[in-house]
Amino acid sequence: MISVGLETIAFLYVAGTLLVIAGVWLIHAWLRSRAFKNLRRNRIQCALCGTEYESEDATELPACPVCAHQNERVTPPLF
Ligand SMILES: [Zn+2]
Repeated sequence: MISVGLETIAFLYVAGTLLVIAGVWLIHAWLRSRAFKNLRRNRIQCALCGTEYESEDATELPACPVCAHQNERVTPPLF
């Protein structure tokens, strides 16, 4: 039989608990980030007047409902 000291059992208990908490936190952060990206996917901000509107069509951007400016897709800067 393997003899394990009380300190080892306590360490394994604390380490296991911390790993579970960290795992739940990481999964929650990942799901939240994914939901936020999906929420912003159809959001468009007009480059001319700054009005935000939504478009369900992912292939072609509609004109701005306020100023009728035809917006284009741009890659946002990283910083
Ligand atoms: Zn506009």
